[in-house]
Amino acid sequence: MLMTTTTPLPIGLAALERRLAQDLAWLDLPAKSWVAPGSANGQALLDVAIIGGGMAGLAAATAMTHMGIQARIYDKAPQGLEGPWATTARMETLRSPKQLTGPALGLPALTFRAWFEAQYGGEAWEALDKIPRLQWMDYLRWYRRVMNLDIRNDHHVDRITPQADHVQLQIQSPSGPMLVHARHVVLATGRAGLGGPYIPGFVDGIARDLWAHSSDDMDYTTLRGKRIGVVGAGASAMDSAATALENGAAHVDLLIRRPDLPRVNKGKGAGSAGFTNGYVHLPDDWKWRIRHYINVQQVPPPRASVLRVSRHDNASFNLGSPILDVARQGSHLVVRTPRKTFELDFLIVATGFRVDWQARPEYAAIAPHVRLWSDRYQPEPGQEDKELGDSPDLGGAFEFQEKPGHSLPGLSRIHCLCYPAALTHGTVSGDIPAISDGALRLSRGMASLLFCENIDHHYRNLLAYDEPEVFGDEWAPAP
Ligand SMILES: Cc1cc2nc3c(=O)[nH]c(=O)nc-3n(C[C@H](O)[C@H](O)[C@H](O)COP(=O)(O)OP(=O)(O)OC[C@H]3O[C@@H](n4cnc5c(N)ncnc54)[C@H](O)[C@@H]3O)c2cc1C
Repeated sequence: MLMTTTTPLPIGLAALERRLAQDLAWLDLPAKSWVAPGSANGQALLDVAIIGGGMAGLAAATAMTHMGIQARIYDKAPQGLEGPWATTARMETLRSPKQLTGPALGLPALTFRAWFEAQYGGEAWEALDKIPRLQWMDYLRWYRRVMNLDIRNDHHVDRITPQADHVQLQIQSPSGPMLVHARHVVLATGRAGLGGPYIPGFVDGIARDLWAHSSDDMDYTTLRGKRIGVVGAGASAMDSAATALENGAAHVDLLIRRPDLPRVNKGKGAGSAGFTNGYVHLPDDWKWRIRHYINVQQVPPPRASVLRVSRHDNASFNLGSPILDVARQGSHLVVRTPRKTFELDFLIVATGFRVDWQARPEYAAIAPHVRLWSDRYQPEPGQEDKELGDSPDLGGAFEFQEKPGHSLPGLSRIHCLCYPAALTHGTVSGDIPAISDGALRLSRGMASLLFCENIDHHYRNLLAYDEPEVFGDEWAPAP
């Protein structure tokens, strides 16, 4: 009989790491390197440079390394502070269920659960509700260490310039500016990976001392004693509101456009293996219909995050309150909605992210040439969706493609493993549930491209290959 078992006693991380090393040895991983060597400007070409050492970058680097592809990560963040978890995120726990295997790539000993049980045991696992935010970051730090990945922190990629046979990266590093050349580049740049925060027009012209975006790195103790407005009703709105309240805000008004909060997470309902593996092969109309429906339905905030706000008496949920306009009056803001006018000392806009090439100078050389869905797809009337139209129209290995009538040799050497890939590939490029699927899809595509584009080299190697398996001394020819 198959049973779900937990490790009853903590075995310790050292024992887990021995088990992981054993698993990798049994699977004969990593594979030997096989990619054709090359050079540019007197430097050896990297097989693949990955920009971003968050969850997606870690999973992609591991998957490629296991296939014998040399993958090096560059991240502008200091070591251990990649991604949002220990910097701009403000939730107490992850939204995701604890048992998701995230970036573990099918290796049981690399899962969060294995890491957790090794330290705290099975009973603690059973007792755990959701994964605490900073514990998830600790797990990712461990993942990076045990997979022995080549990651260069404090390296800010400033400019990405495709060439016919490689991509050049201009990087600001602790030792000064440098150039790196790689056969292919992966953008594992996160939730706002092709842009930045979505800033609504009503704060145009309002000085930044009176408002912030929920993703800003901000000290919430500065909100003590103040009247705060939070625009939005998603997870980030709740996290910002709760953090402001916990830091002593006098009052928090949630300003929510809709007459009700969304209740059902439709994205979760699109999480089967069918969606993960089949979505990418759907015709355009189906892809658009599905993603548009999920966008319109909107993702509800987690219940615990709503309760974290509503347990404060000085929090108000103002439903049916779209912002009409915002004006500064002296040191405060006057915010008008159809139901009420609010006097606020500070406004936080929790309005999500968008594709915005202007916000990312590193993409200046490629932005005008990248084909977007709006360049070739016309949605049905009533199905218009700016977020979807702005999404890149990617190839099977997440590669950018040229806009009709444009030519930028090497553009397709840049691969987009960040959130805006979702319209083409489904949700395999950002969230925890299917990030291993995305990393494996990318890595298999990368192996295929690296092989096919250097087929002369591989054919020469085949001709030169001379390791005998039979030596001629195994038999005697009949007389
Ligand atoms: C607040 C918050 C909470 C979330 N909670 C959940 C959740 O509970 N469950 C879930 O499934 N998903 C969640 N997500 C969504 C998703 O899982 C996260 O966004 C996750 O961090 C995505 O991983 P990533 O590797 O794609 O990007 P990130 O973790 O954001 O990593 C991107 C990295 O790229 C680096 N980078 C970017 N540009 C450059 C450059 N030019 N040069 C060098 N480095 C660069 C950044 O420094 C960063 O470290 C959450 C997202 C946010 C923002």
